[in-house]
Amino acid sequence: ILNDLIRAEKLSVVSHLAASISHEVRNPLTVSRGFIQMALQDRGQDERQDYYLYTALKEIDHATDIINDYLTFAKPASDQQDIIRIKEELTHSVNVIQPLANMNHVDIHLHDQLPENALLLAEKKQFQQSLINIFKNGIEAMPDGGVLTISISSDSKGYVLCVADQGHGMSDEEVNRLGEPYFSTKEKGTGLGLMVSYSIIKAIGGSVKVSSVKNHGTTFEIFLPVYRER
Ligand code: ADP
Ligand code: MG
Repeated sequence: ILNDLIRAEKLSVVSHLAASISHEVRNPLTVSRGFIQMALQDRGQDERQDYYLYTALKEIDHATDIINDYLTFAKPASDQQDIIRIKEELTHSVNVIQPLANMNHVDIHLHDQLPENALLLAEKKQFQQSLINIFKNGIEAMPDGGVLTISISSDSKGYVLCVADQGHGMSDEEVNRLGEPYFSTKEKGTGLGLMVSYSIIKAIGGSVKVSSVKNHGTTFEIFLPVYRER
């Protein structure tokens, strides 16, 4: 219980912090990146100077990654939930992640068994963000390519969204740490992606179950409540 409390406390501190800074920090980063790229394109640079510029570029990209994982928290006013079409948002999220999948030789298989008018009560952008962060991890777990299978169906209790990769998997200890702020095993990881996903899914009234087999792959099962029109 104490662990849960510490976890919850950390979570709320981190998300409040993010809300206040992400938005303001994004624009200056984009501008700086542009100028560094222009400097790199100038001829007559010496090698050392190029190295400085590439290093700056790399660091800016890392900062941008952190903010991208957080993006939804950057809009404090976006807490308002709408009635959204879950299929539409799922398709949109898959489209957003498709270029990353292509770059990593990952095929995305989408099995969608829901009717067009399946509804969910959620904030659109946040819901997309929660899915994108999970898709992204699945793709990143398969550095040599593979298949990311995304399926959605519904039962009497609600929607079940399944995201399965054929990646490097996790130990039980790693699975238990998922969602903890700053937990990352990646060289350039932020350790914030799943914390964001989990808080969003929780806010919608959903839950997440993870099963993973080392060297075989990982499956995220996301359970979401159906919204029924009256
Ligand atoms: P990041 O991706 O920046 O490391 P996340 O919060 O998105 O941060 O993920 C935290 C950690 O959880 C990852 O570093 C990785 O170790 C593990 N993880 C998450 N998803 C997967 C997955 N699909 N397969 C294997 N490991 C995963
Ligand atoms: Mg991630």
